[in-house]
Amino acid sequence: MKKDTKLVNAGRQAKWTKGVVNPPVFRASTVVFDSVAQMKEASVKRQQQELFYGRRGTPTTFAFADAMNEIEGGVGCYVYPCGTAAITSAILAFVKAGDHLLMVDSAYEPTRDFCTQTLSQFGVEVTFYDPMIGRDIKNLIQDNTKVVFVESPGSITMEVQDVPGICEVAHAQNPDITVILDNTWASPLHFQPFDYGVDVSVQAATKYVSGHSDIMLGTATANEKSWPVLREKSYLLGQCASPDDITLAMRGIRTLGVRLKQHEKNSLKIAKWLATRAEVETVLHPTLPSCPGHEYFKRDFVGGNGLFSFVLKKSNNQALTAFLDGMSHFKMGFSWGGFESLVLAYSGLNKARAESAFGYTTPVIRLHIGLEDIDDLIDDLERGFARLNSNL
Ligand SMILES: *Cc1c(COP(=O)(O)O)cnc(C)c1O
Repeated sequence: MKKDTKLVNAGRQAKWTKGVVNPPVFRASTVVFDSVAQMKEASVKRQQQELFYGRRGTPTTFAFADAMNEIEGGVGCYVYPCGTAAITSAILAFVKAGDHLLMVDSAYEPTRDFCTQTLSQFGVEVTFYDPMIGRDIKNLIQDNTKVVFVESPGSITMEVQDVPGICEVAHAQNPDITVILDNTWASPLHFQPFDYGVDVSVQAATKYVSGHSDIMLGTATANEKSWPVLREKSYLLGQCASPDDITLAMRGIRTLGVRLKQHEKNSLKIAKWLATRAEVETVLHPTLPSCPGHEYFKRDFVGGNGLFSFVLKKSNNQALTAFLDGMSHFKMGFSWGGFESLVLAYSGLNKARAESAFGYTTPVIRLHIGLEDIDDLIDDLERGFARLNSNL
């Protein structure tokens, strides 16, 4: 089945839909049994997609998990109340006190903070590594390394990693190492993690999967080796998600392909326009050669989206505030992946790194290009640059 056909059909097996088009919202806490035998039978099957207790999921959860597996290519999928819960649970499933974890230096900030503030408390040693390290990650792998965490492209700074190279080297060194990928940027559609050696792939389904900025949700899909451990450890952490939110994410899946195409088309046009502007030092858009790791993007990804960054040549507080404050369409907001355009400014990213330098000291602007008309968006940015310039 081709991608777009998969998106239409994923998770719509008759056992979940009972003949209607969409799997209905199925809410439950307690499941009641009429006999001891029935209860025992359900207990034996509780790790499969059977009703046992609400926390294990209901047919709504199972349908969505099936859909994510079909699209992303895993053998199992656990659903969490947000992307951050998926990340922390996936990590906690595979480390214990005394273990070592390698974390990419361009990781999503809460992922980084979880390492420095929580994992350290539990006696898990963390080393941050340069996102462009590639196969040289070999030199950082220790006897007690249990997890290598990759995020590609990196948060805000957008470095595309050599994920297959890192997976190959890590597994060659020690087959028990779990490579966990934050695959949120690509969505389950544009990078197929299990074809490239990843063991567990995390999605903040809050972003493109849901696509409408109105729910929080996370998923982790896993390969055969990692799925049983991920499933049981996540269950023990009490992770589960509301069927009402899941059904909205399921709805998002149906239009994921067409939305991403439009986001990508709009964002590429704006990125190319930005590259011609005198105010812009560089554009960090994986689809363009100016982005570190662009060659891996071309090799491994099948598409882009609306999220990228650019670096200002010159700025100060007043000019940056003037740029941001007068926007008509680009509102300031953290969670991207909805239909609307967003802007955020970051300063001091060069200092946030532990092990690798980010080469720019001027502010970085991250844009999410929504589904608005491209002319309106360019006009908005053009007026923003005029405000910036008149305040420099
Ligand atoms: C937003 C985001 C997350 C966290 O998702 P939440 O649902 O907001 O917890 C994780 N990773 C990346 C790359 C993200 O952009």
